[in-house]
Amino acid sequence: MSNSFDVIIIGEGVAGLTAAGLLAQKGLSTASFEQQLFGGLVLNVNELDPAPAGGEAGGAAFASEMTGANADAGVTSIPEEVTALAAADGGFTVTTAANRYHARQVIVASGAKLKTLGVPGEVEFEGRGVSKCADCDGPMFQNETVAVVGGGDSALQEANVLTHYCGKVLLIHRGSAFRAQPRFVEQVKANPKIEVRFGSSVEAILGGQVVEKIRIKTAAGSEELAVAGVFAYIGLEPNAAFVPDSVKRDATGRLLTADTLETALPGLWAVGAVRSGCGGSLDDAMADARRAAEAVAARLQ
Ligand SMILES: Cc1cc2nc3c(=O)[nH]c(=O)nc-3n(C[C@H](O)[C@H](O)[C@H](O)COP(=O)(O)OP(=O)(O)OC[C@H]3O[C@@H](n4cnc5c(N)ncnc54)[C@H](O)[C@@H]3O)c2cc1C
Repeated sequence: MSNSFDVIIIGEGVAGLTAAGLLAQKGLSTASFEQQLFGGLVLNVNELDPAPAGGEAGGAAFASEMTGANADAGVTSIPEEVTALAAADGGFTVTTAANRYHARQVIVASGAKLKTLGVPGEVEFEGRGVSKCADCDGPMFQNETVAVVGGGDSALQEANVLTHYCGKVLLIHRGSAFRAQPRFVEQVKANPKIEVRFGSSVEAILGGQVVEKIRIKTAAGSEELAVAGVFAYIGLEPNAAFVPDSVKRDATGRLLTADTLETALPGLWAVGAVRSGCGGSLDDAMADARRAAEAVAARLQ
């Protein structure tokens, strides 16, 4: 396999998969890199809401469909984590632990990861009650009480998912009102299995072999609540550590681009959840990818 491509796309979430497929269809030699499994954030979401226009409603099926189409279109999928990226020889050098690659243009589609709570017990109980995936781990908590932390779309969406399995879901939110879309708020209000605790933040996750309770802080002081599981959806942190410092970030660490989606480094583009200003849905991420792919193709052809 050659290590040199017209375009390299970093990340095989929905944004990266979309961009890679379009560029390969246009006849450009295209490689996409993925550090984990293709699909990114939607991989573990069984019922996408909103579902992608014209696509599968299950995240894994949707990503798998795109990956298959990309292979057919001639995308080279490289299962390696990109550790560094630098301008070189009129293009870019992309470095992984195993190899160095070259591309004329690079699209950063490395997305974001769920933020952690950063409280005692979170790391220790990972996989023993602390989870990031309601659809995968929910069935382990049949009829039990679990806590979901957060007040945005993901927290409310996943709290609803967990009520398919759990006896009760405690929705712990620091603020006094949700930041989620009204339809998710209505779903939560109408769900008798969800108990909302506003003005509360998790201080510690406690237990023996597995999670047994959480300690929360409220205006009235500290309180312990018996739970078997803890799911934190308190926002996303962009995956941009490998991007050169010369590419400016916003206050949240997301990459700044011009309206064209090109960064300040000519030939380096950013799309999807890693980009400052991209909307929160997968349709937004895919729309970014389409725009950048068109611009990159126009530049190279
Ligand atoms: C819990 C949850 C539920 C959601 N549900 C919905 C929903 O129902 N409907 C909806 O429209 N949206 C939903 N979203 C939002 C949606 O997931 C995102 O908008 C979308 O997935 C962003 O896609 P992306 O490709 O930009 O990033 P990501 O999905 O984050 O993909 C980025 C990919 O890049 C890879 N990567 C990162 N760094 C590197 C590196 N250095 N080298 C190689 N690979 C790397 C990652 O492993 C990942 O696979 C949800 C989000 C969450 C958190």
